Amino acid sequence: MGNLVAIVGRPNVGKSTLFNRLTKTRQAIVNEQAGTTRDRQYGKSEWVGREFSVVDTGGWVVNSDDVFEEEIRKQVNLAIDEADVILFVVDVVNGVTDLDMAVASILRRTKKPVIMVANKTDNNELQYNAAEFYKLGLGDPYCISALSGSGTGELLDLVVGKFSKEGEELLDEDIPRFAVVGRPNAGKSSIINAFIGEDRNIVTEIAGTTRDSIYTRYEKFGFDFYLVDTAGIRKKNKVNEDLEYYSVIRSIRSIENSDVCILMLDATRGIEGQDLNIFSLIQRNQKGLVVVVNKWDLVENKDAKVMKTYEEAIRSRLAPFVDFPIIFASALTKQRIFKVLETAKEVYQARTTRIPTARLNEEMLPLIEAYPPPSNKGKYIKIKYCTQLPNTQVPSFVFFANLPQYVKEPYKRFLENKIREKWVLSGTPINIFIRQK
Ligand code: GDP
Ligand code: GDP
Repeated sequence: MGNLVAIVGRPNVGKSTLFNRLTKTRQAIVNEQAGTTRDRQYGKSEWVGREFSVVDTGGWVVNSDDVFEEEIRKQVNLAIDEADVILFVVDVVNGVTDLDMAVASILRRTKKPVIMVANKTDNNELQYNAAEFYKLGLGDPYCISALSGSGTGELLDLVVGKFSKEGEELLDEDIPRFAVVGRPNAGKSSIINAFIGEDRNIVTEIAGTTRDSIYTRYEKFGFDFYLVDTAGIRKKNKVNEDLEYYSVIRSIRSIENSDVCILMLDATRGIEGQDLNIFSLIQRNQKGLVVVVNKWDLVENKDAKVMKTYEEAIRSRLAPFVDFPIIFASALTKQRIFKVLETAKEVYQARTTRIPTARLNEEMLPLIEAYPPPSNKGKYIKIKYCTQLPNTQVPSFVFFANLPQYVKEPYKRFLENKIREKWVLSGTPINIFIRQK
């Protein structure tokens, strides 16, 4: 069960500095594809063996001092809905402001764990200033300096201590978990309704122990899988849905807890920033992917040529990952609804593919022989052997070379493409590693 930590607070208190510190990323790592989820907003972290995700809710809005209180209120409510632990950052140099008071008054009403972080405590004297924050009614302020990193280790201990116990939900590990994701109005709740309707015999809610279960077991028509977070999707919260980060943050939990994501696109609209953000979350979590072009009933001219144009447009927007299935469907008329489920099942199988080492070498070594990696400064690079790693999340292959450091990305992509040509791996990411022989 993935845990999500949200960082909230007014502008300039140091949220993004803390985010970078926790995720060890730097803003300078720019994502080439404009409009995709930047590291500023979402990152992975690990502490004492517990993995978790961090979102900086402030990363979605223009960072200026006169940001509206209303905007911050939305962010805070979103964090309360979605996160397992909330870090409320305040600034010991500036002290308590009206906006801090407004944020605190919302946070006092939640049962979720809130840790008040008194940031910019760069020296011991500043620690005395932190006493002022008691008046926010959220317990002890926790003094750190996000800039120097002092206090962040203890803060992480505290955060991890608030996570719920692992293995809380009794899930059957061999049954695939599918998540339906996409921007608002793409048709997520419609397709979930088309899958499960109101037929109680098809679905079983899994009894969660300490919090609402996010899995629904679907067992009928030869299918057996879990749907992730159906309740959350069907229970609409239209108030917040105009916000881009709302749908993106909403997707995080579903994506992290799934094996295969069914990404809903609206056939009447092009691919936009929000679709790319959600796609990039799927990729960063190495999940399987089925793209559904929904509302196909609304497209008048549906001949093969039009479909091809759609397909090419989608693949070019999501490149370089292009090997995934695309289904043209309608949640409304139920056209190809079962095809979507069948395809998700196939992607799940692709994700768990095991290729015997002998077969892999038999196919790949002659190709490598014919097209070896380009030599580097007169040195020949030889790959003599390859194998698939056991027990990985997605199919992962190691190629052993005499000079692994000289095998570059384009050649790895060549190897990946060849593997994809030989075996059915549509919809699943795969990893290629080059190691010293
Ligand atoms: P955000 O708007 O809340 O995301 O704040 P930022 O992370 O962008 O930080 C605002 C400013 O405060 C930047 O100039 C940071 O370098 C600075 N800052 C952040 N953390 C600290 C800290 O621990 N000590 C000091 N002295 N400055 C900090
Ligand atoms: P969500 O926000 O992603 O859960 O989207 P909804 O399922 O609420 O759908 C948004 C709107 O699109 C609703 O008015 C649906 O009736 C409509 N809709 C969803 N799927 C289809 C479809 O396949 N065809 C048509 N014509 N309308 C659809």
